Amino acid sequence: MVIDDDDVQAAGIRGRLGELCYASGLLRPLQHARGYMRQDLRILAYHRVLTLPDSRAFDFDLALISASVERFREQMQLLKRRFRPMRLSDVVAALDSGSRLPANAVVVTFDDGYDDNYRAAYPILRELGIPATFFVSTGHIDSGQPFAYDWLVHMLLRTSAQQLVLPELKLDVPIPDERAARRELGASVLRHMKLFDDTAQQAAITRMEREWQMPREAARPPECRPMNWDQLREMHAAGFEVGSHGVHHRMLAKLPHDQMEEELMGSKTTLERELGTSAMLLSYPVGGDLAFDDGVIKATAAAGYRAACSYICGTNLHSATNRYALFRLPVERTMGMGWFAAMLTLPELMGYPTASRAGIAESVQACSC
Ligand SMILES: [Zn+2]
Repeated sequence: MVIDDDDVQAAGIRGRLGELCYASGLLRPLQHARGYMRQDLRILAYHRVLTLPDSRAFDFDLALISASVERFREQMQLLKRRFRPMRLSDVVAALDSGSRLPANAVVVTFDDGYDDNYRAAYPILRELGIPATFFVSTGHIDSGQPFAYDWLVHMLLRTSAQQLVLPELKLDVPIPDERAARRELGASVLRHMKLFDDTAQQAAITRMEREWQMPREAARPPECRPMNWDQLREMHAAGFEVGSHGVHHRMLAKLPHDQMEEELMGSKTTLERELGTSAMLLSYPVGGDLAFDDGVIKATAAAGYRAACSYICGTNLHSATNRYALFRLPVERTMGMGWFAAMLTLPELMGYPTASRAGIAESVQACSC
């Protein structure tokens, strides 16, 4: 196992503890013991699977990269050896019938619909026989346009402007010269932006595109390309599930009610038309608890979805599972194999920290995408 410098710096206590547990051989007996005491469902949440020769030169949001191709393969091999990968729809069927899930059940999911899901993750999953669910924002599959939050980071990395002035978000801050500092500013702006309603979010991004002359409509950079329908049809025909991640990747709880319903129903209708099958699974865009609420959950059920994933860190105890707010375990690029294995074995201790509404602060949100 190789851990690069970036990982060591970013992993913190959880990462180091995970590597120690992994190297010590403790995880397997702990997993065995935990399986007797606590049978819960783990749902892994990925975004992008991408190997970068030089991450500092990457012009888009690094926080969206869950793993390199090589590490993703290692992670899936571990799942195959030690866990029971399941289709999310089979989990829903078990919830419907009241039957128990097998011990060590795990589900693999992807959010957004970047084309590295098709090019990098899909061949590995198919080769190893691991099922997965791909949640896609159908408007981006239709248009091929970059995702707005990713484009915001891109604009901040590339702009020659000296000052970021966004009255919609009450922001007026200098733009640093250094790329690393610009990435930090981008992450901070995204966290701040997600506290505002959708109108303010869209107005701010549109202002940046217009004033810095970097319109998304005109851009099709290959580094941030969404999948297309032919790719998704191929994956679906090979047995992989495709679910909704809204139409335009908007925070559903931040939209007026009619637009929120249109995101739910429009994406469902498009998936059913393009793939020729019922779409019953959803992942809330952004997915933290500022992104969905009781009204969104009610509308999700009314639109005909049978289950929905959040981006809040946790596992799902069968008896206490809220099928419209399933917890997941986010996978991040700074995770070495030890941390990943330890997270699966001891998710309460080793999960990547995400926030709940009760503890939310200005600078904290569950998901950066
Ligand atoms: Zn997303």
